[in-house]
Amino acid sequence: ASSVEIRKVDKFYGPFQALKAVDLSIPPGKVTCLIGPSGSGKSTLLRCINFLEEYDSGEIRIDGKLIGYDAPGKKAPGRKLREMRRSIGMVFQQFNLWPHMTAKENVAEGLMRVRGMSKVEAGRRAAEALTKVGLADKMENHPSRLSGGQQQRVAIARAIAMEPNLMLFDEPTSALDPELVGEVLNVMKTLAAEGMTMVVVTHEMGFAAHVADQVAFMEKGELVGVDTPDKILHQP
Ligand code: ADP
Ligand code: ADP
Repeated sequence: ASSVEIRKVDKFYGPFQALKAVDLSIPPGKVTCLIGPSGSGKSTLLRCINFLEEYDSGEIRIDGKLIGYDAPGKKAPGRKLREMRRSIGMVFQQFNLWPHMTAKENVAEGLMRVRGMSKVEAGRRAAEALTKVGLADKMENHPSRLSGGQQQRVAIARAIAMEPNLMLFDEPTSALDPELVGEVLNVMKTLAAEGMTMVVVTHEMGFAAHVADQVAFMEKGELVGVDTPDKILHQP
């Protein structure tokens, strides 16, 4: 499992500063929840970790290695960036599945394209990942024949099939009907129990309180505090 060190990270959108000198240590094998009002920079910070967003100054290191840059100020070439991202899985609010592919094909596609696996090997791995998220009996379904919770579990399977050392979740349950939230949180809980390093942007306070090892609070682009989750439980 990876660790992440975020040091004095600034991020601007034009003149607007979305991240202000953010410092955060994400320990290996632990769950870190990012909490805060809408627009406080949670998603931006998460996306800086895998360099989907470029940060302007400061450093983000994964297992000691600088992400996105060869040296401070010197952006890494695309090939190297892809290499850096190989060990990072990401799950978004929207499931982003290919509608014309079955659940299994959705998971297998990346394994073939990115990992260069044969169709047979990718299919075997996809089946394993889908079984792990409780979808062994839905592998041949297209997304239109899956519930939102099932679609999001396919998206998680797609990420874990790549055997990441770090998983990033950006409001993974926000697009779901309330009764489907639990099945996705339960899959995430299982991953956490297996020792995956996880960073989770979420409004699910129950999940943060019961599953997180640390909770980082953001406000107006600043990281205003890092606490143990029991603090959430004891808020009025
Ligand atoms: P959160 O995830 O906490 O809701 P975001 O990280 O999405 O917040 O956004 C932080 C701030 O940055 C918001 O004020 C948002 O409007 C702004 N922002 C986000 N993405 C962009 C962008 N691509 N261009 C300009 N402003 C952006
Ligand atoms: P709320 O306070 O919003 O009602 P809950 O405490 O009911 O929240 O829990 C919301 C989510 O947090 C649940 O769906 C579950 O995934 C997780 N959760 C709740 N209790 C536990 C627990 N004891 N252990 C692990 N996870 C829990």
